[in-house]
Amino acid sequence: MNELTYSCAICARDLSRSDAEFIQLTATRPDWIEMQQFYVHASCLASKLDPSVPLGELFET
Ligand SMILES: [Zn+2]
Repeated sequence: MNELTYSCAICARDLSRSDAEFIQLTATRPDWIEMQQFYVHASCLASKLDPSVPLGELFET
């Protein structure tokens, strides 16, 4: 069975749903129905966030 592979939106390396680092981000705007999905490694996202941003369970791998 082939597993669907994504590209990390930050580093562009392969990312699969079974990866412990897999994070799906949903972006939208107030009052918008449209949304966009982004797939990233938890470590890539964490490295882009300001150190003052608290990281929760999502980032514990
Ligand atoms: Zn990445």
